[in-house]
Amino acid sequence: MTLSAQLPRRCWAEIDLAALERNLRLIRASLPSHIRYVAVVKADAYGHGLPQTAARLMHAGADLLAVANIAEATIIRELSADFPLLVLGATLPDEDRYLAELELAATVSSADEAARFDAAARAAGKIIPVHLKIDTGMGRLGVWFDRAPELYRAIREARHLRLAGIYTHFASADEDPEFTAEQRGLFLRTLANFKGLDPARMLIHADNSAGLETAPGEDAPFNAVRVGLLQFGILPHPHSLLARVRTEPVFSFHARVGLVKELPAGTGISYGRTHRLGRRSRVAVITAGYGDGLSRASSNRGAVLVGGRRCPILGRVCMDQTIVDVTGLPASPRAGDPVVLVGRQGTDEITVAEFSAWADTVPWETLTSVTKRVARVYRTPLGL
Ligand SMILES: *Cc1c(COP(=O)(O)O)cnc(C)c1O
Repeated sequence: MTLSAQLPRRCWAEIDLAALERNLRLIRASLPSHIRYVAVVKADAYGHGLPQTAARLMHAGADLLAVANIAEATIIRELSADFPLLVLGATLPDEDRYLAELELAATVSSADEAARFDAAARAAGKIIPVHLKIDTGMGRLGVWFDRAPELYRAIREARHLRLAGIYTHFASADEDPEFTAEQRGLFLRTLANFKGLDPARMLIHADNSAGLETAPGEDAPFNAVRVGLLQFGILPHPHSLLARVRTEPVFSFHARVGLVKELPAGTGISYGRTHRLGRRSRVAVITAGYGDGLSRASSNRGAVLVGGRRCPILGRVCMDQTIVDVTGLPASPRAGDPVVLVGRQGTDEITVAEFSAWADTVPWETLTSVTKRVARVYRTPLGL
């Protein structure tokens, strides 16, 4: 073990892999049994750590893993030479050859991409599986829906491509069920114009976590979902109907008390002295700051758990440390005591959603903003 791995931790994230596995099984059980589970693990598995997360999701029964790009796919290829992988992002021309080399499924949004991937597959003497993406109102990747039948034909005619899926992505599944229903309808009407389409031979998918709330039953041609946030135990919005699935948080975020001291009333706290103590106070300097992923936007707003109680953040969050008010605690904390930034301590809990609201952001950004120096500690690995 390296010296740095033996040192006591100052700020770390705990990743509960058994909770991740239970979440996948619960989400699966809430869906009709023919629905395939595409586990979305882009951006280092939403900051949870790609290899560990991907390994557990494969073990737990995911049907396919979706990544943002080829670099992420290579990390999973070191775990498995043949597990089905879908690249969600736009592949760059100088990356085309790796689709064939690593046996990845590519997203296709244009005739140009289809021609490029066909040429790359021919050069490698392989067939590249592709998912045709249709833009039904997100304005990002995908072919605009009225050009989709043309691209569908081009893919069917390409000798070295195999149409392995067709999908679309919702723009506001978490806030606008009407627009989501429109996108869903447009997608289905577009597919109805595809000649000779056999949905049983490919994945037809649209729903992300929030989409699962309004997903239709067994009648539609949909046969797969793409789940990111929910499998990490986080709801896409506070009133989500998906609360019924009862997933558990996988991620928690921890620091320690570095120093405790008393300060007189009137003292200005931290850079810019944006907070002034209204009374004589006991403060704790904790060992985490924005250099770890505790957003500066939560200055004077957020809180942490110390001794099982909420202690407000005083003044600006600094790069490596943050000052919190511990005056109200029944017993003074001591240097080295544990601090929870996200997660449970005693009977209280700070959720990723609450932590994100203090930072004026969304859970997706919070999770992917935990920085590199924060060790991910894996709880409940397999075999324990
Ligand atoms: C990230 C992503 C998902 C997963 O979204 P969640 O809201 O995290 O479930 C699904 N599909 C695409 C195309 C994505 O980029």
